Amino acid sequence: MATKSSRSKSPSKSPGTFESLNPATGEVVGVFPLTTKDEVDEAVARAKSAAQRWANLSFRARNIALRDWASILTRDMNEAAELIHRETGKPLSDATLEVALAIEHIGWAGKFAPKVLARQSRPAGLLMFNMQAQVQRVPFGVVGVIGPWNYPIFTPVGSIAYALAAGNAVVFKPSEFTPAIGAFLEESWKRIAPFKDVFTVLTGDSKTGAALTESAVDKISFTGSTRTAKKVAASCAERMIPVVLECGGKDAVLVDRDADIKKAAEMTLWHAMSNAGQSCIGAERVYVHRQVADQFKNEIVARARELQPGFGEGAKYGPATMPAQLKVIKSHIDDAVSKGGTFLLGGKDAIKGGYVEPVILADVPEDSLAVTEETFGPTLVINTVSDMDEAVDLANATSYGLGAAVWSKKNGKRIATLLQCGMVSINSAFSFAAIGAVPFGGVKDSGYGRIHGAEGLLEFTYPRTVVKRRFRIPLEFTTFERSERADKILVRLVRLMHKRKIR
Ligand code: NAD
Repeated sequence: MATKSSRSKSPSKSPGTFESLNPATGEVVGVFPLTTKDEVDEAVARAKSAAQRWANLSFRARNIALRDWASILTRDMNEAAELIHRETGKPLSDATLEVALAIEHIGWAGKFAPKVLARQSRPAGLLMFNMQAQVQRVPFGVVGVIGPWNYPIFTPVGSIAYALAAGNAVVFKPSEFTPAIGAFLEESWKRIAPFKDVFTVLTGDSKTGAALTESAVDKISFTGSTRTAKKVAASCAERMIPVVLECGGKDAVLVDRDADIKKAAEMTLWHAMSNAGQSCIGAERVYVHRQVADQFKNEIVARARELQPGFGEGAKYGPATMPAQLKVIKSHIDDAVSKGGTFLLGGKDAIKGGYVEPVILADVPEDSLAVTEETFGPTLVINTVSDMDEAVDLANATSYGLGAAVWSKKNGKRIATLLQCGMVSINSAFSFAAIGAVPFGGVKDSGYGRIHGAEGLLEFTYPRTVVKRRFRIPLEFTTFERSERADKILVRLVRLMHKRKIR
């Protein structure tokens, strides 16, 4: 189970390149360019010219390109999944699920863009009744997408597909831990691209990412840690360009006394431990009603005992993709136990080589790192509450606000409306991420802006208001020729519409 080599993204033997390594075996998956600032600027300049042509295509033509891309990826699904498996260490079946969901989003974005982004007529109101008012949605031009490694195809495609469908060209910088899948995406796009430079992939590290934010892109869509997001936002502020920030989370699971406990335990375990816990919307904390707490703990621990991390067949999850995270996971476990938390499963020795065995902790004080900070490992804290109001207060008491899950037969919707976060699933886990029609994103330290759904398409356009005078009227207000009579009528109209008796 131990990793053959600790993983690093060190420069390779050829200058100006770096290696992508399999975190389970140390095998070199590929060698990729460390794209320089000048090269980033050149790529963005080429994307600018393509953007104009791409934006001028009809929605139908863009949908055909996206549909064909989805079809090519479907044909090559096994190859993509195999690459993700090797580059991240996650099980092949999880990698396949990831590719399938990315394809679903490409299809949704292309199909619904015409409806969501169609020109809208708006009522002009009584004062401007002679005007025709319209809102158009305009693509920004070139969108720079910066991606993480944990879902190296699903996550960036949530920005890439929606930005493309809205009429933007895209320049994508994948994580330095997963450049191969980034390059694969570009290759597959090129097979169906109507012309060059609509979608470009630039491999590299944080310097390449920073260069992209400083280049002539018109918007950035960033997914990654909150720490990096703040730097990205500051860089975008320098250039006054908008930014979407999809950052980390500390998602809570709330289990009420009327929940289906077996199902809640089964799905919460996957919610917490799949992908070795390296999910932005992974369950990290459970608040369970005291009346069902023992039953829930017994169920989830019994199931967790069966989980085997590894790289081969039968492994339920893989190694930590980024070795530096192991230190964070260890510090959270140690801190939780030193503050009084107890192990229901696993122990301080859970980290073995590059793998972390399942760790379930109970009664962990709320000021522990394992409750307040993103752990990003196969660890779960289960704390007991007296009622769901307490659970809601604790769930909301973090700096993050990405997703949450509620388990209750009767009270799910009521509890969901009280949670300060971007997405909630009731009696299920992760499911919102798989629905093309709903927005994905968070609040507070989890970021701002949205990908997926109609909101995700709108995010990659700006509204342009166009109003047109339909006919002349004797009472025109926006001119030096305005008469006294017009002034009086204006006041009379406003009074008529807005004057009320205030109680
Ligand atoms: P990270 O912040 O270390 O890196 C993310 C990307 O930013 C990488 O491509 C990196 O090269 C680039 N980068 C680094 N410094 C940069 C800079 N100064 N300017 C521009 N780009 C820079 O994050 P990570 O470790 O790759 O990803 C894990 C994090 O991502 C976790 O916190 C996880 O919760 C979060 N995440 C969030 C979502 C979401 O949708 N909310 C989805 C997946 C992952």
